[in-house]
Amino acid sequence: NHLARSLRAASLGHADAPFLEHGLTSEISSYRRFFEGAEQMAAALVALGVEPGDRVAVQAPKTVAMLQLYVGTVLAGAVFLPLNTAYTPAEVDYFLSDASPRVLVCDPGALDALAPVATACNVAHVLTLGPDETGTLTDARDEHAPGFAAVRREASDLAAILYTSGTTGRSKGAMLTHGALASNSETLRDVWRFTRDDVLIHALPIYHTHGLFVATNVTLMAAGSCLFLPGFDADAILRLMPRATAMMGVPTFYTRLLQRPGLVGAAGNMRLFVSGSAPLLAETHDRWREITGHAILERYGMTETNMNTSNPYDGDRRAGTVGFPLPGVELKITDPETGSEMPQGETGILEVRGPNVFAGYWKMPEKTAEELRADGFFITGDLGRVDEDGYVTIVGRAKDLIITGGLNVYPKEIEAEIDDLPGVVESAVIGVPHADFGEAIVAVVVPQVGTEIDPGDILDGLRNRLAGFKLPKEVILTPALPRNTMGKVQKNILRDEHQGLFR
Ligand code: ATP
Ligand code: MG
Repeated sequence: NHLARSLRAASLGHADAPFLEHGLTSEISSYRRFFEGAEQMAAALVALGVEPGDRVAVQAPKTVAMLQLYVGTVLAGAVFLPLNTAYTPAEVDYFLSDASPRVLVCDPGALDALAPVATACNVAHVLTLGPDETGTLTDARDEHAPGFAAVRREASDLAAILYTSGTTGRSKGAMLTHGALASNSETLRDVWRFTRDDVLIHALPIYHTHGLFVATNVTLMAAGSCLFLPGFDADAILRLMPRATAMMGVPTFYTRLLQRPGLVGAAGNMRLFVSGSAPLLAETHDRWREITGHAILERYGMTETNMNTSNPYDGDRRAGTVGFPLPGVELKITDPETGSEMPQGETGILEVRGPNVFAGYWKMPEKTAEELRADGFFITGDLGRVDEDGYVTIVGRAKDLIITGGLNVYPKEIEAEIDDLPGVVESAVIGVPHADFGEAIVAVVVPQVGTEIDPGDILDGLRNRLAGFKLPKEVILTPALPRNTMGKVQKNILRDEHQGLFR
């Protein structure tokens, strides 16, 4: 039941095999070296006074040592709390005061700015960890010998608090247990057939569930290895791909790689490409298949639940869908107003229940009660439907649903039509306040570079394909949509920007 022991189990007897190979320097960390470092980290934390249940926060560049800190924190019975490296000190202040960690680990370059914030939040110790693994954290690690025995924890004890991405509002701390994290990564290892022979291209950040709990945990659970990159780097990925068997990415990884001529022929040895964290356009799926011969496997998850659904490993990976509920995960579609279950095929809120679901939001009992039902179903806030074959399609977020003149409009339906028009790269459809309609539909459209398109042409193109009430009241052209580091379109920014259009 102990997450750290589960993460180690597969590599016992296989300890000299590589776990992480740095994609740029080729430096290798074997399983033995990695776990010894994690044990040393655990000993260092305990020496600082970290007790079971204490939070250990980290905002640092992606390194092997940061993953050792993750496993070391869990070994010590404490709670790992990674923070997005893009957060400013003012934002970090919110997380530290909310989570009251005992330790903060930060980039040496950020120490001057963060030390006062940490002091104000009563953080007992601030240590540093730089991109080259130097700093006071690795110094402290190296003062201790390996051999730390895992502090006893139950499946229901917390292993991590991960804050949600903040796409729809202020980030919430999702409390994740040993049991939830271990069971989900075991499930994913099995359904995606990860083994010791796998070599995963790891270019995702490790402060988010995708890179930390999906990519890293699944590799550990299978005792495979990673080609570890500090961030997305198309050249490095294409260079490494012939040696790899799998890659996990957000949709922007795939769209950017598709722009590279070097992709042709690079995927020879690959067996699996996984996409998630944001919707993958069907067009991207199709073009990827044309060029590499591989059907990207799209899955759906979130900070609160880890992964919920996945397209099948064997069988049809359907573009535009997120596949079936994972083994052990129950999924239903409910009426946004009444909460009652809807007939198969209809669109409503997705709710999920299973061993993967979180234990609630940190210090937000009211929010937890609103979103986590007493019977264990978590109200995801995503809208979707299940087709007759059981495939789940995400239609968008409930918060993005537009109600115009009393009628519900799903932005994704309009976006799909716009994206099909010639000269369009992508689009985002939002609702903005309107005196008559309540909300008016506004389309923000990214034209292909070098093409001349006119907002009027877009409206003409939509006119015979969409009912009148679904037609945008305004089409705005823009060179790029605002996206966060996980590739999620930030519709809240677009709504703020255009909220005055009809006032
Ligand atoms: P917040 O909850 O703070 O508003 P967030 O929901 O973006 O932020 P995450 O937990 O990182 O934070 O993201 C989970 C969300 O990402 C899901 O609820 C869903 O909307 C979206 N998502 C994940 N995978 C997919 C996918 N394959 N297709 C469409 N959407 C996806
Ligand atoms: Mg969310």
